[in-house]
Amino acid sequence: MRIVSLAGGIGGARFLRGLQAAAPDAELTVVVNTGDDITLYGLRICPDLDTVMYTLGGGIDEQRGWGRQDETFHAKAELEAYDVPTAWFGLGDRDLATHLVRRQMLDAGFPLSEVTRALCARWQPGAALLPMTDDQVETYVRVELDGRERAIHFQEWWVKHRAALPARAIVAVGAERSTPAPGVLDAIAAADVVVLPPSNPVVSIGTVLQVPGIAEALRAKTVVGVSPVIGGAPVRGMADACLSAIGVETNAEAVGRHYRARSDGGLLDGWLVDTADAAATVPGVEVRAVPLLMTDLPAAAAMARAALDLAGA
Ligand code: GDP
Ligand code: CA
Repeated sequence: MRIVSLAGGIGGARFLRGLQAAAPDAELTVVVNTGDDITLYGLRICPDLDTVMYTLGGGIDEQRGWGRQDETFHAKAELEAYDVPTAWFGLGDRDLATHLVRRQMLDAGFPLSEVTRALCARWQPGAALLPMTDDQVETYVRVELDGRERAIHFQEWWVKHRAALPARAIVAVGAERSTPAPGVLDAIAAADVVVLPPSNPVVSIGTVLQVPGIAEALRAKTVVGVSPVIGGAPVRGMADACLSAIGVETNAEAVGRHYRARSDGGLLDGWLVDTADAAATVPGVEVRAVPLLMTDLPAAAAMARAALDLAGA
C-alpha cells in the first residue's frame, strides 16, 4: 500500500510514527510544511522537517517534542550573553550540526529536497520526507505591535509571543509562486490513500495546500483526516489562535467543515474525531469517533489504524 501524508511538526510526527507501526509494510511519503522555515544567523531552520526526521529516525527529545535528545543549549546561552535579538529561538548544540550541514549543502547549490534526503541518510526515518516545495515560502502573521500594524515572521509570533498577539491575518509569503518539490505530485498520483495527521490545519496542513498543484492532485484521491482539536481545544499548542485568524471555530466539527467534503470541492472523504466529539457532522464526509490522544505509540498506532479503516470504508 502506498500512503501519502501532509504534515507539520510534532502532531504530524507522532501520528506518523503510529502510522508506521500500524502499516509497517506500507510505502510512506510525507509532504512536510516548510512555511515555518526561517533564516537565523545565516542558518536555514526547517522546524517541521527536522521534527519529522528526528521523530521517525529515533533522535527526537520525547519530552519537548522537538530538537535532539540528550541536547545541551550552550550556544543558545552564549547568544543570550551577547544579547542577540533572536536568542528566543532555541537551537540546541547537537541540532546545530544538522543546520551546518544544511547550510553547506544549500550553499553548494543543492535544493532543500536533496539536502533533506542527505540528512535522512543518517536518520533513516523509514519514509520519504519531501519538503512541500524547494522554493522559499515563509509564513507571516499580521499583528498590532507597539501601536502599529506589522507583519512578523510566524516563528516570532509563535515562539517569542506564544501566539498571544491576536492574528489579523496569516499569510504564506511566496506560496502562490512556488512549485511542489520533485516527487510530491508523483507520490500523490501513486498513492492508494492520503492521510492528514492531526497537524495544525492553518499553518501546517493549510500551508502545504497553498502550494499550487497539491490540493488539485488530492482531488483524485481518497483522503482521510484526523482532528487536532478535541473537546473544543487543541491538544497541544495554540492552534486556536490560528483558527480564529481564518474565522474557523476551534472544534472538531468546524475544522472538518473547513476542510470540507471532496465531493463538495473540498478535501475529505473521512474525518476522524475524538469520542468526546462523536456528535460532529460534516456534510458529505464519513465521520468516525475514536480516542485521539497520542499518549504513547500504541495509542498513535490505534488512531492510524482507525484512519486506514475509515479510508477503506
Ligand atoms: P507543529 O508544527 O509542531 O505545531 O505540529 P503539527 O502542526 O504537526 O501539529 C500540531 C497539532 O497537533 C496541534 O494543533 C495539536 O492539537 C495536535 N496534537 C498534538 N498532540 C495531539 C494528540 O495527542 N492528539 C491529537 N488529536 N492532536 C494532537
Ligand atoms: Ca510547525
